[in-house]
Amino acid sequence: MADAPTTLVILGASGDLTRRLLLPGLGTLLSAEPTRRVRVVGADRVDLSQEDWQTKVRDAFAEAGLDTAVAEPIAADSRYLKTDVLDEAQVRSLLAEAGEPLVLYFALPPAVTVQACALLEKIGVPRGTRLALEKPFGNDLESARELNRQLLRVVPENDIFRIDHFLGVNTILNLIGIRFANRLLQPIWTSEHIEKVEIVYDESLALEGRAGYYDKAGALLDMTQSHLLEILAFFAMEPPATMHADEVRGLKAQVLRATHAWGHDPARASRRARYTAGSIEGRSIPDYVAEEGVEAARHTETLSELVVQIDNLRWSGVPFILRSGKAIGDQRKEVVVTFRPPAHVPTGLEDNTEPDRLVLQLKPGAVDVELSMNAEGNPFELEQKELHAELGKPRMLPYGEILGAILDADPLLTIRGDEAEELWRIVEPVLAAWRANKVPLQDYAAGSDGPAGWGTVPRR
Ligand code: NDP
Repeated sequence: MADAPTTLVILGASGDLTRRLLLPGLGTLLSAEPTRRVRVVGADRVDLSQEDWQTKVRDAFAEAGLDTAVAEPIAADSRYLKTDVLDEAQVRSLLAEAGEPLVLYFALPPAVTVQACALLEKIGVPRGTRLALEKPFGNDLESARELNRQLLRVVPENDIFRIDHFLGVNTILNLIGIRFANRLLQPIWTSEHIEKVEIVYDESLALEGRAGYYDKAGALLDMTQSHLLEILAFFAMEPPATMHADEVRGLKAQVLRATHAWGHDPARASRRARYTAGSIEGRSIPDYVAEEGVEAARHTETLSELVVQIDNLRWSGVPFILRSGKAIGDQRKEVVVTFRPPAHVPTGLEDNTEPDRLVLQLKPGAVDVELSMNAEGNPFELEQKELHAELGKPRMLPYGEILGAILDADPLLTIRGDEAEELWRIVEPVLAAWRANKVPLQDYAAGSDGPAGWGTVPRR
C-alpha cells in the first residue's frame, strides 16, 4: 500500500451505482481490511452539502456492517465537490483538490463517461492515475475500439480498470481453485472428458422498474455479452503459471479470441424470448411489454440462449450453452459440467444412471459432484450419488473485492481492452441475425421455465 492514502474520486456520486453498490462494497472492504487507507471524494453535478455527502457515506458503511471506529475517520474525511464532469474548469479544480495517488471511478451514464474521458485527454491527469469504468464498454465492436483508443490517450492500459463485478464474486474466483489446485479435476478439464458446459443465470426477478436501462439492453447484452462470457473465459482458459494480471488476462483474451457461435451460425446457435404475464411465488407479474417504459417495438428479449464453440485443441467440439433470463420460475445460477460416459462399464452392472456432472452453484456458492456409484441395497445396480461442498461466505461484497484490487493497482479482476473488444466480436453476429429477424422472438409466461425445447445443441 502506498504511503499517502489513495484518493477514490467517484464521478456520479449521487447515482444509483454509488449508493447501492460502490459505497457498501467499500464498507465491506474496510471491514475485512480495516487498516487500509483511502480518502473518498464524491463528485456529481447535483447540489449536495458536505454533511449530506458524509451522511451518505456513513449510512452506506453502517449498512455494510463496518465498525464505527473504522468508518468514522474515513466518513469525516470524505469530501463532496460539486462538479460537472464535462466542464473543463470544474474538472481541473476537482483534479487539483483530489491529490495523489488517484483513482477516478466513472459511475456516470456511459455516454457521459466517453465525453469526460475526451476532456481528461485534453486536461491530462497525474502520472499513475487509475481510471475505473463500468460496462457497457461501447455499444458495439467499433465503439468499444474507439473507447479503448480514447482511454489509452489518457492513461496506459494497466491503469484502466474495466469493471465486471462478477469477477469479484467468490464462486467465480473459485473456478481457479477447482480447476487448477487439485489433481482430480485438473487433468480431465478437456474435450476428451467433458461433453458440454452450461453457464446459466436465470433469475426470478422481473423488470423491477429498470426499463430505462434494460429495455435498450436485453438479456444478451445485460448478461451474456459481459458476465457469462467472462465466466466462460475463467472456465476455459489455459492454465496460468502465476496469478499475475498479465498472465491471467492474456489467457482469458486468448480463449475468447477462439470463441464463436456454434457452427459459426449465429442464427441457429441462438434463441430469444420475452415474458408474458404470469406469477412468481405468489407475486403477479405483468406482461413485459405492459411494464412502464417498455417499447414493445424494440423486441427486447428477457431470456436468451447462445451456444458457442471454442476453436482450440482443448475444447474443439464441446458446446458451451450460455443462458440467462428474467422472471423464470426455477431460479438457476450455476455452471454445469456434463462429463462423457466412461469408456466401458463392466457388463453385468445395470447402468441406468445419468451422466456424471459437476455443478458449481454461483449463489450461494457451493459445488456438487454427481457421480455414478453402486446403488444402495444392490451392488450390481448403479445410481447417482452427490458429493456436496459449501463455499464459505465471501469475505466482502463483489464490489469490495474489485475496489480493493483497484486501490492496490492490481488489474487482475478487471477486463483488458482487447478482451472487451472480443466480447463484442462474439455477440455482434448474433445481434445482427436477430435484427434481420432470422431468430423468432418466442414467448414464455413469467414464472415458467422458459419456452420448451431450449438447451439442445443444433447439429453443425
Ligand atoms: P445514475 O444515472 O443513477 O447515476 C449517474 C450519476 O451521474 C447521476 O447522479 C447523474 O446526475 C450524474 N451525472 C450525469 N451527467 C453528469 C455530469 N455531466 N457531471 C456530473 N455528474 C453527472 O446511473 P447508475 O449509477 O445506475 O450507473 C452508472 C454507471 O454504472 C453506468 O455506466 C451503468 O451502466 C453502470 N452500472 C450500474 C449498475 C447499477 O446497478 N446501477 C450496475 C452495473 C453497472 P443526474 O441525475 O443529474 O443526471
